[in-house]
Amino acid sequence: MKTDIRALSKEELRNFFIKNGDKAFRGNQVYEWLWIKAARSFDAMTNLSKDTRQMLNANFVINHIAVDKMQRSIDGTIKNAIKLHDALIVESVLIPTKKRTTACVSSQVGCSLDCNFCATAKLKRMRNLNADEIYDQVVEIDKQSQLYHKHKLSNIVFMGMGEPLLNYKNVMMAIDKITSDEGLGMASKRITLSTVGIPKMIKKMADDEVKFNLAVSLHSAINEVRSTLMPINEKNNLEDLLEALQYWYQKTKKKITFEYVVFKNHNDKQKDIDALVNYCKKIPSKVNLITYNTIGEEEFKTADKEVIDQYVRVLEANNIIAKVRKSRGDDIDAACGQLANKIN
Ligand code: SAH
Repeated sequence: MKTDIRALSKEELRNFFIKNGDKAFRGNQVYEWLWIKAARSFDAMTNLSKDTRQMLNANFVINHIAVDKMQRSIDGTIKNAIKLHDALIVESVLIPTKKRTTACVSSQVGCSLDCNFCATAKLKRMRNLNADEIYDQVVEIDKQSQLYHKHKLSNIVFMGMGEPLLNYKNVMMAIDKITSDEGLGMASKRITLSTVGIPKMIKKMADDEVKFNLAVSLHSAINEVRSTLMPINEKNNLEDLLEALQYWYQKTKKKITFEYVVFKNHNDKQKDIDALVNYCKKIPSKVNLITYNTIGEEEFKTADKEVIDQYVRVLEANNIIAKVRKSRGDDIDAACGQLANKIN
């Protein structure tokens, strides 16, 4: 099987050409074609000789993703079903607001984490995405942003399918490319990685001195409740998570965003609100309150508006920033937790 050329670093490409009796510089040219000009074939690399192109064709392939199906919501949100080279599908979403456009990208095909309320959890994890498959989603959505909204993509959130911290290496490689001048040149502060909260990996990110933002899907600050919503909490409880987040803050000085879906009957009591406030007081953080997007599970329903308002009031009274995040694209199942390759 031929190697996917985009798995090679620039240095590896340079070495490939040296080994084949050419100049290292040729590696830079190819790298530029692959990453800046987003070439889809070796024949498109017009400043290379025919022999060089043939040699590349004989040794490598350029795997690429393709938008298999695009759906546009009445609110402007676009959901893409993305076909990978092995025919598996992931989803990526473009979310426009007045001021910006945000790409929501996937990091894995399916997910292994079994959060009870999430549609993606119903698909078993098939495989990790490669760095170039993650990067390409951003490139595609950037194109859509320019086409439909007349400006470049402004933000990226790793809130699509999968758990980014369980595909650490490839996600970091993709972010390096996204932020590099040889890739999209986007600012790290415009990128947010969202995780269920894996303490060991949060510490690793802090040690690696990453510059992007961190969001944690909390959903409850009471262990028993959180474990019923997110089984990962059984082995990685709130105390371990807090310790890792404090380590993160100490190293990065970056506030954490807690994502918090308010569910009817699960976390809609005053004791749930008080626990969240106490948790937030221990770590510089803000809270995004999310209304539950239905995925056809009877057990889960969004909480009453009064409860969400009460959450906001109490958090704000304690000087914790709280925002209610509006659901986007729910008419096309593009909203949080609805990504499940549903073919209509
Ligand atoms: N695995 C990562 C990345 C996925 S992000 C993480 O869990 O953070 C997807 C976000 O949508 C998470 O905050 C998740 O908890 C939330 N979510 C999942 N299902 C949802 C649903 N049905 N309604 C609203 N939000 C949901």
